[in-house]
Amino acid sequence: MTVTPVRPTRPASATDEFLRRLVARVPGTGGAVWPLTEVYTGDILVELPQSTPADIEQAFATARTAQAKWAATPLKQRLAVFQRAHSLFIDRARTIADLIQVESGKNRRMAIEETCDPPMIMSHYLRRAPKLLAPTRRGGPVPLVSSSTEIRVPKGVVGIIAPWNFPFATGISDAIPALMAGNAVVLKPDNKTALSPLYGVQLLEEAGLPKGLFQVVCGEGPDVGPTLIDQANYVMFTGSTATGKVIGEQAGRNLIGCCLELGGKNPMIVLPDADFADAVPGAVFGAFGNTGQICMHIERIYLPESRYEEFKEAFAAKAASLDVRAAYDFGPEMGSLVSVDHMNRVKSHVDDAVAKGATVLCGGRPRPDLGPAFFEPTVLEGVTKDMLCGVTETFGPVVALHRYRTVDEAVELANDTDYGLNASVWGKDIRAASAVAARLETGNVNVNDSLATAYAAKGTPSGGVKTSGVGARHGDQGLLKYTDVQNLAVLKKPVMSPRPGQKYEKYVEGMLSGLKMMRRLRIR
Ligand code: NAD
Repeated sequence: MTVTPVRPTRPASATDEFLRRLVARVPGTGGAVWPLTEVYTGDILVELPQSTPADIEQAFATARTAQAKWAATPLKQRLAVFQRAHSLFIDRARTIADLIQVESGKNRRMAIEETCDPPMIMSHYLRRAPKLLAPTRRGGPVPLVSSSTEIRVPKGVVGIIAPWNFPFATGISDAIPALMAGNAVVLKPDNKTALSPLYGVQLLEEAGLPKGLFQVVCGEGPDVGPTLIDQANYVMFTGSTATGKVIGEQAGRNLIGCCLELGGKNPMIVLPDADFADAVPGAVFGAFGNTGQICMHIERIYLPESRYEEFKEAFAAKAASLDVRAAYDFGPEMGSLVSVDHMNRVKSHVDDAVAKGATVLCGGRPRPDLGPAFFEPTVLEGVTKDMLCGVTETFGPVVALHRYRTVDEAVELANDTDYGLNASVWGKDIRAASAVAARLETGNVNVNDSLATAYAAKGTPSGGVKTSGVGARHGDQGLLKYTDVQNLAVLKKPVMSPRPGQKYEKYVEGMLSGLKMMRRLRIR
């Protein structure tokens, strides 16, 4: 049977001319291009230049020249760019969302929410950066005659490698603190989703970011990655755990720092006292928000045996009734997966689970009638660890329900994974739920929410443990990681060696009693 999906009308802002101008900033002297497509239809939107190693080296050279001037620009002036950009990003949110939607196929709600991330990051670091980047005077080893000052120096040129699931947020938000700290950035977005980050760079330049400081290079990861990492002074990577290991290895060989934000297999524990009026919709968003393509999304739900059937019935009914469609308005509750390849990967996880004995409670099938890469919201039960989706990240709208008998068992099951990115605990007694949360081996844990509260709390570092990552974004660490520390130590008088003619024994006596006194007087 052939099916002809409904073809939504492409947003008016995404004209051929606008898209051609956006990709014109990507260097591609080799002449190779990537056909960047509209996910809902499979139509080619624009040909994206593919950068050669020489193009990447040139991008770094240009960025490095711009960085020297930028780092010498007073912080106040640097931050003024982001004050202007904050308003500009909000004013252009609808156009940004159009681009995010055409290239990723997500629904409108998720696209517009994604546009809010860079302004939130700007807002947070506009407040924090002056304090974090100011030189901090510390005590020296000898009171009064010595001092040490912690000076934050930009790393140089930061290489950012971003995935397709939140192309605008990961491409632009992670660059903002790096730029504020005085660095240049060379970004490599995913080929599929280069449009929205390219527009973000254009907006930053409209707000006054010096031209050349923020470069974008494009290409397949294994083609672009090695040159980019060889040229970079620091690498910020967001993507799969498998690729993260490759990036970390090369960064290690080059002795440069890196932050790796990787995959998850995130559990949700519903405690016996949970209010299902909140927990069921919370689980629906956690599992199916962004079509299940959120690194922090929920793939495993643990339910008390006594309330399993009640949750299962309500949850599966809600999942089955979701409005899944291709549209550029706020109607659909879930959109498409990002590509046919990814849809096939998600399907293979479901097929494998079913072949090994799992039961499909709802969904489970591709929906070519809706668009080339649509897949139904899918709820499974009977998933075990010999199934692909029992152990590895599916990264699609697929979630498994599990029973537990005791809270200890729920904690054990939730922790029984190599990943440690996000978790969610639901219960009316917030203190009890928080105590359960504290026992989970994860970088983020949300009580009575699935993921958004932790991610949106920009003041707290957010990262993964175990195989979900190294380092963090957000919080002070999210900016300071883009700096080196220079320890500027000053000695006013040469007191740290014997005076002329003084016996060493005497000097040592004075030094040791001085140490005791400093401890007594609490001098550091
Ligand atoms: P991916 O690892 O395949 O690709 C991510 C980026 O790395 C892309 O730009 C890709 O082109 C590039 N890349 C691939 N191979 C490379 C190589 N050898 N060298 C350099 N770059 C290379 O991941 P994906 O499938 O695009 O994204 C989905 C994954 O990202 C999921 O696992 C998801 O959980 C994870 N993710 C994590 C976070 C987080 O904050 N922890 C956020 C978003 C997505």
